[in-house]
Amino acid sequence: MRYVEQEQAALVEAAYQRAGCIAKVATSALPTAVGEFAIHVYQELETGLEHVALVKGDITHGQDVLTRVHSECMTGDIFGSQRCDCGEQLHLAQQRIQTEGTGVLIYLRGHEGRGIGLSNKIRAYALQDHGLDTVEANLALGLPVDQRSFAIAAEMLKCLKVCSIRLMSNNPDKNSSLQRHGVSVNAIVPLRIPANANNRKYLETKASKLGHLFNWPVFRV
Ligand SMILES: [Zn+2]
Repeated sequence: MRYVEQEQAALVEAAYQRAGCIAKVATSALPTAVGEFAIHVYQELETGLEHVALVKGDITHGQDVLTRVHSECMTGDIFGSQRCDCGEQLHLAQQRIQTEGTGVLIYLRGHEGRGIGLSNKIRAYALQDHGLDTVEANLALGLPVDQRSFAIAAEMLKCLKVCSIRLMSNNPDKNSSLQRHGVSVNAIVPLRIPANANNRKYLETKASKLGHLFNWPVFRV
């Protein structure tokens, strides 16, 4: 992220923290193909966006809670798009939480295409078909490379009274953003997804230009 974008994101995130920006609006049991979960819906007061915490077991006052903070990706999560690895990361994380018996998967709306929105993401895909990479395509559209905020996820974890987490992620920016917002990230757990012919360049760009890591061991931070 460029400096100006970082500064803007920090301002927005600070405003969210001051405001107390979410309210829990619904909760229920949710049986899934993977296992039994509880689903909690939180509404962002400013925008009306609804975000989800899918919870397994009792995580209240939990230490080292296995956690995924997932950015919405309709094409990957729902349609199994091979342009990215979102769907596979989502399903692997949910399965790991089920296997562990406790954990939380936070699903953040409004994060399509690293925050540029669905239609702009699809426009960026069209540019990528003409040779641009994912970073160049966003910039060619006059859009930021990454304008996601993880402040909402941090607030949701506070509402859930989670004390500390093990974060399933390949993205160091997500880890540092959560920590800036008061989340104790005690370990990083990578989500290794094998590349396919369609997403190899995308994954390479995420590694070379966005700092994503794919071969970490689990380690304490
Ligand atoms: Zn995706």
